Amino acid sequence: MCGIVGYIGHRKAYPIVLNGLKRLEYRGYDSAGIAIYDGNELKFSKTKGKVADLESKIEADISTQGTIAIGHTRWATHGVPNDVNSHPHFSNSGDLVIIHNGIIENYEPLKQELKNRGYTFQSDTDTEVLVNLIEDVQKKEGVKLGKAVQIALNQTIGAYAIAVFDRRKPNEIVVARLGSPLAIGVGDKEFFIASDASPFLEFTKNAIYLEDGEMAVVRTHKEMKVRKIHDDSLVDPYVQELQMNLEQIEKGGYDHFMLKEIYEQPDAIRDTFRGRMLVDQGLIKMAGVDDHIDKFLNAKRIIVVACGTSWHAGLVAEYVFEELARIPVEVEYASEFRYRNPVIDKDDVLIAISQSGETADTMAAI
Ligand code: GLU
Repeated sequence: MCGIVGYIGHRKAYPIVLNGLKRLEYRGYDSAGIAIYDGNELKFSKTKGKVADLESKIEADISTQGTIAIGHTRWATHGVPNDVNSHPHFSNSGDLVIIHNGIIENYEPLKQELKNRGYTFQSDTDTEVLVNLIEDVQKKEGVKLGKAVQIALNQTIGAYAIAVFDRRKPNEIVVARLGSPLAIGVGDKEFFIASDASPFLEFTKNAIYLEDGEMAVVRTHKEMKVRKIHDDSLVDPYVQELQMNLEQIEKGGYDHFMLKEIYEQPDAIRDTFRGRMLVDQGLIKMAGVDDHIDKFLNAKRIIVVACGTSWHAGLVAEYVFEELARIPVEVEYASEFRYRNPVIDKDDVLIAISQSGETADTMAAI
């Protein structure tokens, strides 16, 4: 997973987006970046590493003025974690800027087609392909940004939560969602965009959670319209009043302080967890299987199904469960498991792990 944050309105966007990225750190990431339009220029900074590294880089690097900004914490799926592959990404003209959570599965043919049309690419990401596809549509069809995003997305296969804006029209951000979460905080002549509500809770309690296949153009001083990406039909957005309070924000987006502690103290956990303590310390609760704890701990075998980096996480699970709980574990590639007719005993427990970009095979395997 990764995190996306955006702001458009009348406040200074930089601190909102930066703090928002900090609140989304729990989602895991390898790089961070931010783009701000300061009234004259589109400024950006991005780096492999932590949000704190980004913060020191930005303060040395760019002006933090401006009331429109987008920010991203990346969990690399296409291209190694480095400064260039970090988001935001720009179109060839430098006008469009995008942040993206997810994966564009058919990015290769799209990239080839764009290359044939003269586009060049700095990064190895699927995201840079998408932003150039949007630009290409905008140029070819002579349409507004929202329409160009919609046409481009209808040519993609994959999963995404995106936020994109055009520096020539810095009064709107286009957002869209398929498979990755996206919340819009609705304030007074201002909007917040984020992977979950934690980045904007102190500013507004009103949130719209886009459904899969929906997009919106958020504009200052204008009512927001939500549409279906595939057929352009208008959707009546459900504005939800959030019940979360400051304490829950302080938990950094975690449901429980325990999860926050787990994230912050991996070494302590490694030394502490033993057998039943897996339960007491919340590791199994984290998996949401409270009702099946005994089945879990008495399992004859645990099968972990995952792909990509999640498969590597599965190897860690194999180590932890075998070492501490003495339960045999098998870690399987979801992309192969899905095509077999696997032998699973009633005393086996199957765990599926996924993160952005690796979901399709794992869902099919389940
Ligand atoms: N697929 C994109 C990339 O590799 C986005 C990954 C993410 O969700 O952070 O850059």
